[in-house]
Amino acid sequence: MLTAYHPQSSKQVFAAEQSSTNGPFFCPACGSELRIKKGLKRIHHFAHLPEKNCLYKSESQLHLRIKKQIYYSLLQELGTNVKDISLEKMIETIRPDVLVEGFKKEIGIEIQVTPLTPAELIRRTVAYYQHKIYVLWVLPFSATRFFAADDGEFQSIRLKAFEMMLYYMNYKHLIFWDDTEKLSQGFIKVALGDVWQKPSAFYSIDWSTIIEFNPKKLKQKKMPLEIEYDLGLKDFKPVYAPAFQMPKADYFLPKRFIMLRE
Ligand SMILES: [Zn+2]
Repeated sequence: MLTAYHPQSSKQVFAAEQSSTNGPFFCPACGSELRIKKGLKRIHHFAHLPEKNCLYKSESQLHLRIKKQIYYSLLQELGTNVKDISLEKMIETIRPDVLVEGFKKEIGIEIQVTPLTPAELIRRTVAYYQHKIYVLWVLPFSATRFFAADDGEFQSIRLKAFEMMLYYMNYKHLIFWDDTEKLSQGFIKVALGDVWQKPSAFYSIDWSTIIEFNPKKLKQKKMPLEIEYDLGLKDFKPVYAPAFQMPKADYFLPKRFIMLRE
C-alpha cells in the first residue's frame, strides 16, 4: 500500500514522506501494524508482516506503480475541479485504489493486477453500488498481449474469468493502463469482439462423404477491434447499468454504477 494510518498524527500518511522512525503505521483495512519499505528501485510502500492475512496485502510493484501514476495523472487532470482525490480510502468493506470525490458524484478506481474471483468481483460491485460510487476497473496493459510479435497486428487474447465479467459489465470493452507510460499517458480502452473458429471440412474415413464443421465461437478468446489511448477521466461517462445474466453462465452480473467510455 502507498499509504497507512499514522495514529500519532491521526492521519493517513504516504510512505514516500515517512521513515521507519516515525512509526508505528497501521493498515486501515485489517488494523495490523505495517512496515515501511523504502529503497532506491522499489516504490516506497507499506507492507504487512508475512503472517498477516489481509485483502490488500499482496499488491505488486506493478500495482503500486499504476496506482501512483493514475493518482498523479488525476491530480493533474482534475486538480481543483473536484472536492478531493484520495488514495486507498476505506469505505466500510471496499477500498478503491483511487477515489475521486466530485461535487456531485464519487468515482472509485480499482486496479486489478492479480485475478479476482467472480464472487469477490460481484461483492465489490454490489458494495460500490450501495455507496453510490461509480467504478472504473483498470487492468495492466501489455503490448505483447494484444500485438503479434511478427507483424504487430492485433491478435486474439484469452480473457481470465474476471476479465470476461468486466468485459460484459463494461458493454464489451476493457480499460487498461500502461505503466511504462510510453504508449499512453492516460487510460486505454480496448474494444473487443468475438473470435470464430474458421469453417473447415474433412473427408470421412472411407472417403465417401465430406464432413463440414460450422464456424464456432471461441468462448474465452476475444479479438481487439479498436484501441483508444490517452483517455482522461473526463472521457468517461457515469452510467447506471442494470443487472443481466452473464452469457453462458448461471449467475447474474449485478446492477451497478460504472464509468463508461462510449
Ligand atoms: Zn491489512
